[in-house]
Amino acid sequence: MICPFCGAEKTRVIDTGEKNEGTVVQRRRQCVACRKRFNTYERSSLGMPMIIKADGSRQIFNREKLTKGIQTACAKLLVSSARIDALVDEIERDLQNSTKREINSRVIGDKVIAGLKSIHPIAYIRYAIVYFKYDDLSTIRAEIDRLTSEGL
Ligand SMILES: [Zn+2]
Repeated sequence: MICPFCGAEKTRVIDTGEKNEGTVVQRRRQCVACRKRFNTYERSSLGMPMIIKADGSRQIFNREKLTKGIQTACAKLLVSSARIDALVDEIERDLQNSTKREINSRVIGDKVIAGLKSIHPIAYIRYAIVYFKYDDLSTIRAEIDRLTSEGL
């Protein structure tokens, strides 16, 4: 975000709030160079529900961020970028078709998990470890055993 006062490229968010029942996110920013403060407003693009994060804050659906997360899970595996794009498209379309104005980020996570499961078992496990916060080997092993028994 470029500072409207001095044109510096670095600003930091000092506060995030909501307006209009969560359909607009207001961010208070401060320029790192001239230290002046200004507000930015983000509105969900038409038809897209706002995403409710685990901490209760609202965010606009971020396609790049979702793509990056899936790409990371698929890194060095034989998964084409077309396959990744198709999964992101599918999730984005589901959101656009939703009549809800707000959607829990967990819903998106679940869709990614379900999609990765059919794309690549390793990508699925990588994503699941982060997503479900698996922090012990026995849980991860049990999940791998379950996948193996399902024939993946
Ligand atoms: Zn500035």
